[in-house]
Amino acid sequence: MESIKIGKQKVIIHRYNTVIVGAGAAGMNAAVHLYEFFTQKGIKDAHDRIAVVTAGVSLGASRMSGSDKQTYYKMGTSPEVADSAEAFAKTLTAGGCCHGDLALAEAVGSLREFYHLVQASVPFPHDSMGSFLGYKTDHDPFERATSAGPKTSKMMSEYLQRQVVRYGIKIYDQQEVAHLVTANKRIVGVVTINKRKFNVNVFQCENLILAAGGPGELYKTSVYPKNQTGIHGLAFKAGLAAENLTESQFGLASTKFRWNVSGSYMQVIPRIFSTDSDGGDEREFLTDFFSTMSKMATNIFLKGYQWPFDPQRIENCQSSLIDILVFNETRKGRCVFLDLRKNPVGNSSMKPFALEGLEAEALTYLQKTGALQKMPVERLAFMNQPAIDIYKEHGIDLRKEPLEIAVCAQHNNGGFAVNRWWESSIKRTFIVGEMAGTHGVKRPGGAALNSGQVGSLRAAEFIANVYGADMPSKNSAIKEIKMQVGDLIERFTAGGIKAKDVVDEIQARMTLSAGHIREINDAHYALSKAIALVKRIKQEGISIKSTKDIPSAIRAEHLALASVAYLKAIVSLLEQGSGSRGSHLVLSPDGVNIAGTELRFKPENEGLRNSILRVEYDPKQPDMFHCESITPRPQLAERKAFEPAWKEYRLGKIYE
Ligand SMILES: Cc1cc2nc3c(=O)[nH]c(=O)nc-3n(C[C@H](O)[C@H](O)[C@H](O)COP(=O)(O)OP(=O)(O)OC[C@H]3O[C@@H](n4cnc5c(N)ncnc54)[C@H](O)[C@@H]3O)c2cc1C
Repeated sequence: MESIKIGKQKVIIHRYNTVIVGAGAAGMNAAVHLYEFFTQKGIKDAHDRIAVVTAGVSLGASRMSGSDKQTYYKMGTSPEVADSAEAFAKTLTAGGCCHGDLALAEAVGSLREFYHLVQASVPFPHDSMGSFLGYKTDHDPFERATSAGPKTSKMMSEYLQRQVVRYGIKIYDQQEVAHLVTANKRIVGVVTINKRKFNVNVFQCENLILAAGGPGELYKTSVYPKNQTGIHGLAFKAGLAAENLTESQFGLASTKFRWNVSGSYMQVIPRIFSTDSDGGDEREFLTDFFSTMSKMATNIFLKGYQWPFDPQRIENCQSSLIDILVFNETRKGRCVFLDLRKNPVGNSSMKPFALEGLEAEALTYLQKTGALQKMPVERLAFMNQPAIDIYKEHGIDLRKEPLEIAVCAQHNNGGFAVNRWWESSIKRTFIVGEMAGTHGVKRPGGAALNSGQVGSLRAAEFIANVYGADMPSKNSAIKEIKMQVGDLIERFTAGGIKAKDVVDEIQARMTLSAGHIREINDAHYALSKAIALVKRIKQEGISIKSTKDIPSAIRAEHLALASVAYLKAIVSLLEQGSGSRGSHLVLSPDGVNIAGTELRFKPENEGLRNSILRVEYDPKQPDMFHCESITPRPQLAERKAFEPAWKEYRLGKIYE
């Protein structure tokens, strides 16, 4: 560590072989594996060559988000039903727009990483014979899903962090990333502002692993934890290409305490109702659309494992019709609640709610689990007490009050492009976790956590075997560091638009025009407004009254660029004639009418399943970004005899 002066600013320079940005489940796993690979290669001071840098160890989706039983999707571990990596990969690619090699790598690495978490003490449940238990989630035809409870990802990151600390790897907390330093077509350093002391740091590195999570702050109606901004705008500026940005996932979540109301919250079949903004005029708004109590209650149940909004589950009164109806109510300024104290209430033409009246799938499940108590909260307490406790921890007693809910942004299946070793479009920069664009249009619930673990293992293995453990030299890239950090510091004195106004504008626009309901003319308009905002920021700067304002100014600036990237991708896909797919619905005047509403939607254009939309920053383009369609890479069909394959492994040819 040394300090230099750039302008009047003291800048602290740190040097590491590999810097990992982000301390969630993916970032922590990368640190653990990289240390272990380096150590296996005989590097004695591996811990001094790796650093984790994060805006907040306790922040991010892994630490702060979850659901009734947060899901980890892995290869099947049932003692009776055989699973295979190819079958697993086939499920991951089933919705289209997914690279086959990534899906196969995630499948092959799945159990290795699952058992790695078991060894790290994550309490995944097993039976008396040691078989790890599974259940069915959305888009999951098998029972590959498992869970360690509502806080699975929190435990994953915390237990991995214990290993990181035990290994002596330094974690730099409270470091807001402000810039990625580029030199010779590489990213050679990460500039951060310490959020408490407001000093400037540069983490110079030979290799970089970006694990900064999804761009949660893009949306107003969101279940991402507050302050999960990510660094998408900075990554675009540094030249990284992204894929499938259009494929964000949306679904029902509580808003007072941001938490998904999937799984057992819905399987216990709560009452769903709306009120006006003052809490009066209660209405059972679902009853206008479902013909019988049986159909309505069964679809509420199905929302449990058909959780993300899915435009292909709307017609003929399927479960995603509920998301549309909730959205319709909130659009009218009404508030929607999920009330676990009461069973669903019907209208005069419906029979009263009775468990025996449910359709077979719901009734059999509840009978099998023994959740046949009178009221939803009793059924929930019987099935999953931790799902009640988590709300209690956040001051909400589900036995006393209903939960306000909305259709919220929760995950991006897309992200930055990676190859089968999770190396990005820039050499020596790796992207892991939600920041990587590894999923296609649909993914089974829980596949995000599997992908983050496998991707971070693969990135670490590649770095240790191909790029090695050398430290950056003192003089390398110092010119670029001085120049680029100097430019950044100059911007700290600029003043103009308030950061909060910028973020409010972005969030309102993204929720309205880039959420689960999209329309081409509206998306074009939103894109033009997003570009205008970036230009305004460039001209006027973001208001900084004291050093305390610097981190939020930086966040607002790169979030504005990220929102242009997302909207540009959405517009390009709509222009290609895509329809409703994944977790968004495309409105079209000549589309299919959603019975009982004014909405007409365009069905999926299945011809686009074999095409991935790639987006790159290009300031010369009128829309600031360049889009192109690429064909998904196939699965690798290497099946060599043992001896030649062993030789390739010994010679390191597998990394070529
Ligand atoms: C409500 C909810 C429920 C979910 N349920 C499931 C589920 O059941 N199964 C599943 O597989 N997935 C689920 N997901 C998705 C999954 O939790 C995330 O994709 C995953 O945890 C992301 O892990 P990560 O390590 O990539 O990033 P994160 O855990 O988000 O960590 C990001 C890290 O980067 C840091 N960071 C962010 N921005 C900056 C910045 N500007 N500067 C410096 N540092 C920064 C953060 O502080 C944090 O340390 C859910 C997500 C939500 C929101």
